[in-house]
Amino acid sequence: MGTKTHCPYCGLQCAMSISGKGAADAEVTPRQFPTNKGGLCQKGWTAADVLRNPNRLTTPLVRRDGVLTPTTWDDAFDVVASGFARARREHGADAVGIFGGGGLTNEKAYQLGKFARVALGTSNIDYNGRFCMSSAAAAGIKSFGLDRGLPFPLADIGSARAIVILGGNVAETMPPMVSHLMTAARAGGLVVADPRRTATVERAVADGGVHLQLAPGTDLPLALGMAHIAVTEGYADLDYIADRTSGFDDFWRLAGQWWPERAERVTGVPVAAMRRTVALLAAARDNGTGAYVLTARGAEQHSTGTDTVSAVIGLSLLLGLCGRKGSGYGCITGQGNGQGGREHGQKADQLPGYRKIADPAARAHVAKVWGIDPDDLPGPGQSAYELLESLGQPGGPKMLMVHGANLAVSAPRAGHVVDRLASLDMLVVNDFLLSETAAMADVVLPVLQWAEEEGTMTSLEGRVLRRRQAVPVADGARSELEVLSELAIRLGQPAERFPTDPREVFDELRRASAGGPADYTGVTYDRLDNDEAIHWPCPEVGHPGTPRMFLQRFATDDGRAKFIAVDHHGPTEPVDAEFPLVCTTGRVLTHYQSGAQTRHVKALADAAGPMFVEVNTDTAERLGIADGAQVVLTSRRGSATAAARCVDSLRPDTVFLPFHYAGDQRANLLTNPALDPTSRMPEFKACAVRLEVL
Ligand code: SF4
Repeated sequence: MGTKTHCPYCGLQCAMSISGKGAADAEVTPRQFPTNKGGLCQKGWTAADVLRNPNRLTTPLVRRDGVLTPTTWDDAFDVVASGFARARREHGADAVGIFGGGGLTNEKAYQLGKFARVALGTSNIDYNGRFCMSSAAAAGIKSFGLDRGLPFPLADIGSARAIVILGGNVAETMPPMVSHLMTAARAGGLVVADPRRTATVERAVADGGVHLQLAPGTDLPLALGMAHIAVTEGYADLDYIADRTSGFDDFWRLAGQWWPERAERVTGVPVAAMRRTVALLAAARDNGTGAYVLTARGAEQHSTGTDTVSAVIGLSLLLGLCGRKGSGYGCITGQGNGQGGREHGQKADQLPGYRKIADPAARAHVAKVWGIDPDDLPGPGQSAYELLESLGQPGGPKMLMVHGANLAVSAPRAGHVVDRLASLDMLVVNDFLLSETAAMADVVLPVLQWAEEEGTMTSLEGRVLRRRQAVPVADGARSELEVLSELAIRLGQPAERFPTDPREVFDELRRASAGGPADYTGVTYDRLDNDEAIHWPCPEVGHPGTPRMFLQRFATDDGRAKFIAVDHHGPTEPVDAEFPLVCTTGRVLTHYQSGAQTRHVKALADAAGPMFVEVNTDTAERLGIADGAQVVLTSRRGSATAAARCVDSLRPDTVFLPFHYAGDQRANLLTNPALDPTSRMPEFKACAVRLEVL
């Protein structure tokens, strides 16, 4: 039977059991669960290998004479705490920065935010989820008044006959999700917008679905072009628009200028394909067979990501899909706790419960739970990239502590970020492997990994899940809750303010979230351990949770969903004679995020093979690049090397790089840190490059 838990990797949080006496013989078995329906991808099947990695860190390391040197926990804590004290004494509280991760449990994310605001008093905390779902979150809040990635259970889409995915390749990133797409796919109703002909696209077109092969960074005009078709060709749900929305006139003032032929000119997507997509959604809506629109990182990771999602939501509202059972708009969350990670206070502008840190009522509520004066809480801090950009600079943090992020690989303009990390007085990294970022650190704290710890995660559908300890803790490693407690005590905090028991932390999180948008009050370990399916908000014990949101009203002041008027401004960095190709990035089937874990799993590394760049066959021929040749890609920020894969599945004006590789193969050496003005999302998905044979 084993211990029931969930996969350590992506936001689908597939259910699994772990059997065996310890890491050495731990074995993963998939479990039936509504999201994964008994399936796992290869990453999940091999997840136990991460537990027995021979390079697992179990001893704290402190850099002495330039070398990371094993030491005791007490010594490491003293070094870190004295670094905190020195930075604060010499430069003020904001001289210490905290960087969190979307893979941390809810308990750790919550405690990290509290540690930053209470023990350190710094406003400088943000996390790598800023690089993932922040644009969809910002757009969701603007239109619906609340952000929950999928405001309906994932299983709802399983019976839908029309599903449109913009910028998501779930057949590779979360393969068990494909089972939920099959009704639509078999009906010819699966539509995928992607510059590449991905595995998900192949699944769609195999049964007559649609591939919208757009230019990178043009999802917004694509959505507006389809909105134009919806309105002018009679597909809009006028009663729904009148009864449940506001702002249509302003939206249409801009969208009305996106004649489908204009959208085709900009996106490269034929008008007929746009027309077919809108007709599929409208037909499934009208005959009640289910119509959904989903976005993922391909559409969202742009400097116009928030506006892009607003355009997609606008299309969904025109068609009357949102806030109704059997249809809707949702964002496919990427990281394991990408949903919970953005709710509990590790985001620069937030407090637990998805509260705004600038809101006086929110500050008063959370300060009371934390036993402090609201005036002692810092205000909003810098967003993730801005925080990294300011490291070591005048007025910026002189010390940074990182949890659950591998910034040297995953941050945009990674070469520059590495320089900034190197300019710090002290870099502290909490990790269980010596990631590329940990290898740069002054102090490395060896912490627990997934199957060694208790806690909760919140999946892509807003359901709170139990993560359970299945193997003994690796000798010498400690939980991050212990790390934060020890450091807080050394900073003069009472021990009882920073408990180390995950259940105790979660119960405090429930109180801190009470009355907030993401209300966890009624979610308890006991209920979760009884296998109750609880989707937040859940405002009291006994409340069933909220699997489907917005059925009666949206979370806006007037209860109506808001159309947001947006227009296309294009990628920040257009191609030119010097950099004539658009570079876009993404995942491959067997790697996860920066690859810090999956590159160490032999089966996954072997399956993925070495770093590559996909180039259209015609483009490669024009540039004299043979299949398999080593090439160098250069953008205005740096160069990266890869082996050329010549393919016909990609637009001739675009190259594709996976972002899981390290060293001079880092895709993020190239990427553009231009930020979305609302979400502060960097423009990961489109930058101008040139390609040369090495
Ligand atoms: S990586 Fe994602 S899709 Fe694969 S098994 Fe884990 S949770 Fe499931």
